[in-house]
Amino acid sequence: MDLFWHLYQQGRIRHAEDTASEARHNVREQELAVTELERQVERLTIVVIALAEILRDRHGTPIEVIEAKMREVEQRGATLRPKAKRCDECGRVSSPGHKNCIFCGKPLPKEPFLPDPKQQHPGAEQVSAANPAGTAFQGEKPADRPGG
Ligand SMILES: [Zn+2]
Repeated sequence: MDLFWHLYQQGRIRHAEDTASEARHNVREQELAVTELERQVERLTIVVIALAEILRDRHGTPIEVIEAKMREVEQRGATLRPKAKRCDECGRVSSPGHKNCIFCGKPLPKEPFLPDPKQQHPGAEQVSAANPAGTAFQGEKPADRPGG
């Protein structure tokens, strides 16, 4: 009886050790994923600052204009998350993430790199129809490019 009890307890201890080991492994994986995301955000921040400085220094775009555009995009709720797409062939809608129509198999329109303002916000269509150049950049004159 003692032997069986001992073996039973040993089995339970081994199981608990395995569970703990697996949990440690999962935590480590999540830590790596967070580190990778932080690295990507850092790189994106550098890219955005570089682009803003190019606009300011080489095209004479005032920083206030860049900030106003950033606020406008933010308010529009711009996102690059995949969304449902309508098939050009059969007109039916496939759920996000599909490359081909789930009904007829035809390739779905590709996700644009920059989100289409008209699809982001219902009011955006009126704005761009009234002012095709975009409010923030209206009347802006690019400065001479140094060495351009
Ligand atoms: Zn289709």
